Amino acid sequence: MRLLIKNGRVLDPTLGLDLIADVYIVDGKIEGVEENISVSADRILDAHGLWVLPGLVDIHVHLREPGEEWKEDIESGTRAALHGGVLRVACMPNTKPPVDTPEVCSAIIAKAKEKGYVPVYPIACITKGQAGKELTEFGRLKLAGAVALSDDGKWVQDSEVMRKALLYAKSFDLPIISHPEDQALSFGGQVNLGKLSAKLGLKGVPFTAETVAVVRDLLLAKETKGKLHLAHLSVKENLPFLRWAKEEGVNFTAETCPHYFHLTEWECDGYNTLAKVNPPLRTEDDVLAIKQAIKEGLIEVIASDHAPHSPLEKDVEFELASPGMIGLEFLLPLSSSLVREGLISPLKLLELLITNPAKVIGIEPPSLRKGEKAKIVLFDPEEEYLVTEDFIQSKSKNTPFLGKTIKGRVKKVILEDKVYEF
Ligand SMILES: [Zn+2]
Repeated sequence: MRLLIKNGRVLDPTLGLDLIADVYIVDGKIEGVEENISVSADRILDAHGLWVLPGLVDIHVHLREPGEEWKEDIESGTRAALHGGVLRVACMPNTKPPVDTPEVCSAIIAKAKEKGYVPVYPIACITKGQAGKELTEFGRLKLAGAVALSDDGKWVQDSEVMRKALLYAKSFDLPIISHPEDQALSFGGQVNLGKLSAKLGLKGVPFTAETVAVVRDLLLAKETKGKLHLAHLSVKENLPFLRWAKEEGVNFTAETCPHYFHLTEWECDGYNTLAKVNPPLRTEDDVLAIKQAIKEGLIEVIASDHAPHSPLEKDVEFELASPGMIGLEFLLPLSSSLVREGLISPLKLLELLITNPAKVIGIEPPSLRKGEKAKIVLFDPEEEYLVTEDFIQSKSKNTPFLGKTIKGRVKKVILEDKVYEF
C-alpha cells in the first residue's frame, strides 16, 4: 500500500527537520520526506495545518498489569497511548507483584506483544519488593528486557543502597530513575504545604521532601558517575541545584509532567481527589519555575506519570484517596501549550517528548528517516475540545482535566499500514 501525507508541518527532532512537506509511505515504511511529492498513492491524507511527527516516547507510565487490572491493563493502557500519539511506552514496576524478577519482566513483554497497540519497555525495580534494602539482579533484568531501574512510588531512602545501585547499574549501562521524595518529610502529606493545606486542614508536603531527595541523588550521581534520571520534578527550589549539577557535568536528566506546569494546589480545593497526586500540585511560582527549567534545558524530559485509579480509589475521602492521575492522552496536547506560549519551539518540545526520553532508556530515537517503519502522528495544535469520559480510552477516567476545555488534539496515527482516526 502507498500512503501519502500531504502538506503537513513535518517535525522530526531526531533529524532536526521542521518544514512543510509530504511524507510518502510504501508498504508500511517511510519512502521519503520532501516538498511536493507527486506520485500516485492508494490513499492521500491531507495534513494541512497539522504537525506530522514521529510518535512520543513516554517513560513514566503505570500500566497496572499485573495485579490491578480493574484500573488499567496492557491492552487498555497502550490503546490510550495510541490515542495520545504515544507510540512507545516504558512502564513502571510498582505492579503486583512488582517487576523485581526477570520472569515478571518477560511476562509483561510477552503480554504487550500479544495485546499491546504500541511497544512496551519495562522498567524493573531497584530493590527487591521495592523495600529499599536489597538490590535486584540488574544483569538478569536487563537480559529479560528491562530498560531502566526504579522504585517509583518510593524513594530509595538508604543512601548507601542508592549509591550501590548507581554503581551497579552503571556496569550494565542502565539508568536509575529516582522518585525524589524523602518519606520522612512527606509522611502523611496530602497536598502541598501552604495556604491550601491550612485552609483544608490537611497535612502538607513541604518542598524539602522533594529537594532534599534531588540533592542527595545528584551528589551520589556525581560521586559514582552513574546515570541518574529524576522523575516528576515539581518545585522551584530544585532549580539552583539542577544548574549546579549541569555545571559539574553530573550524568543526569530531569523530568516533569504536564500537570506541574498547568495546575496549582488550588485544583484540590473542595477536596477534589482527582487532583491528588504525588508529588502534589504546587504554587503558581512553582509552575513558572518548572517552565523556566524547561526553557533553560535543566528539565529535558516531559512524561505523563499516567496513574490510573478507579472510582474505588478516588470516590472516597481525600485522605483515603490514592494519588495519581491519567495522562497518556493529554501529554502532547497539554505540552503543546509551551509552544503556544512562545517558551520553546515545536522542535524543542518534541526533543523533550521523543528524542530525550528515548535516550534515557537507551532506545533508538524515533524518526521519519527513509526506510524506518512508519510510526507517525498527525496532531492539530490549535483544536479546542472538551475532555469527557467518552473521549478517554484509558480504563480509568481520573483526571482533573475532565470537564475542562483543552487545546491540541491527536487526529490520526499511522502504524505502518494502519491508519487510526480519532
Ligand atoms: Zn513517582
